[in-house]
Amino acid sequence: MKLSRIVFAVLVFFISTSSCLFAQSPDESIEKLKGGNERYITDKPTHQNQKSTRRTEVAKGQKPFAVIVTCSDSRVPPEILFDQGIGDLFVIRTAGNILDDIGLGSIEYAVEHLNVPLVVVLGHERCGAVSAAVEGGEAPGHIKTLVSNIMRAVEKARSKKGDLLENSIKQNVDNVVEQISKSKPILEEFIHEKKIKVIGARYDLDDGAVSFFNTDSH
Ligand SMILES: [Zn+2]
Repeated sequence: MKLSRIVFAVLVFFISTSSCLFAQSPDESIEKLKGGNERYITDKPTHQNQKSTRRTEVAKGQKPFAVIVTCSDSRVPPEILFDQGIGDLFVIRTAGNILDDIGLGSIEYAVEHLNVPLVVVLGHERCGAVSAAVEGGEAPGHIKTLVSNIMRAVEKARSKKGDLLENSIKQNVDNVVEQISKSKPILEEFIHEKKIKVIGARYDLDDGAVSFFNTDSH
């Protein structure tokens, strides 16, 4: 066998192996989400991967292409606003899209075991959890823990010009992106090795558009 043939065979092996591990690149995942959101905004959803054939296909194993960390708000369902179906998105939802160790562990599982290449932290317009933190006062029960977590974003947003609630929503997303990016030992390493990207985004309740903040940041 000629040397060039051997080199070619080795290349094919590596390409097929890596594509097997990561179904697509982080940027390809972003484009897929953008395309789905565009279909949703323009009332042209395909409702892809929502039939019994897809259920059967993924019953034995999942290969989602993005992790979505978003708010529990009933108006922000990721599969619908990105026009995706069963087995496409690995979703973590809490009020105010904040994370504790359990949430971080869920992302680690998606990244390390399911080879998901993209993590999106999706905040949204007029978020009730962030509003509660902006309004201040004593929150009852466990809501106190939630609000105090978001309060860091509100304090930072106070020094910025413009609408305090909007700035707090963005700052809160930025904080969670940073929290994920600095999470040791797994996520920080995956980002450093450029295996995954972590980006922030905002969902507009009125027109349905998702704006990605900075697709090159992490
Ligand atoms: Zn919310």
